[in-house]
Amino acid sequence: MSSFLNARRRAIGRRGFLAAGGALGLSGALGRSAGAVTRTRKIALEEHFSTADLEKRGYVARPTQSDSVFADIERRLQDFDQLRLETMDEAGIDVSVLSVTTPGIQGVADAKMAVELARQVNDFLAGQIQRRPRRYAGFAALPMQDPAAAAVELERAIRQLGFKGALINGQTGGHYLDDQRFLPFWERVQDIDVPVYLHPGELPDHPALFAGRPELNGPVWAWTTDSGGHALRLVFSGLFKRFPRLKIILGHMGETLPYLLWRLDSRFDLQVGHALPLEEQPSAIIKRHFVITTSGVFDPGPLSYAIGAMGEDSVLFSVDYPYEDSKVAADFIDSASISDAVRAQVCHGNASRILRL
Ligand code: MN
Repeated sequence: MSSFLNARRRAIGRRGFLAAGGALGLSGALGRSAGAVTRTRKIALEEHFSTADLEKRGYVARPTQSDSVFADIERRLQDFDQLRLETMDEAGIDVSVLSVTTPGIQGVADAKMAVELARQVNDFLAGQIQRRPRRYAGFAALPMQDPAAAAVELERAIRQLGFKGALINGQTGGHYLDDQRFLPFWERVQDIDVPVYLHPGELPDHPALFAGRPELNGPVWAWTTDSGGHALRLVFSGLFKRFPRLKIILGHMGETLPYLLWRLDSRFDLQVGHALPLEEQPSAIIKRHFVITTSGVFDPGPLSYAIGAMGEDSVLFSVDYPYEDSKVAADFIDSASISDAVRAQVCHGNASRILRL
């Protein structure tokens, strides 16, 4: 692990310790001290891989200016036999549900090529899962450039390769997933009855908001707002009225949405001009059709807020390996001041139910 990630791990570990200590004082037996963390069994859902081929073709985003940090990330993305397993063991992660890192297939310009590469990479992942079926599971990469082919590939990945759902890295070719062209795809998703992980991807354009501020145009801010906005496009498009059994997974503690539920309802009522029935309010749609993961947000305040806003059945542990440190993620959830029953749900119970593991 690079010195950068080590330094960050120490800083966050210290913060997590202080937070856990504070919670202990408030809620007594509910909290655990970080010094004596007991590992709860975990399933992690936003854990990424890549292949030498995808990397050579330029479909691996680079979210850091540091060559050494990126080299460590690249090494870990392509490793299935050593670092990944060691890290999982250290964090108490039994099963990692693996997905192609961003932008992956969403970054391919040519539709035919996207269809071909998606098949190849899904077959490759199936091979890795077959070698370690008790440690790895898979989310399909999908060629959304060709929605009909994406539906076919999803069905193949679920029924033939045994994958648990799909992970899509944001927009594809400027089209967000509420676009009409994707309706037949969503119909197939509902029929097959698997969740879709809506993960950040590259923006299709260059908003003036980010001009001259490249640090905003990536995971620091742009990916969060793009993913949160993408989710809201699905909410407001009526997609869930048409397909009431769809389930979407959002990472990064819900891409800010749990924090905004009240305001979304209040301002949408204003825009419509009258109060909407409860079940049609944005908050109700989000709570009905979305679950969120803790990936990349190992912060006690947002966790407890998210559990309160979304419900304890709708928050799932994840890391965002190898962009985040699995041990920091595990120390955070294992020492969070939540009951052990809720901890078990967040760490593995909800994932087992939603992914049918
Ligand atoms: Mn990720």
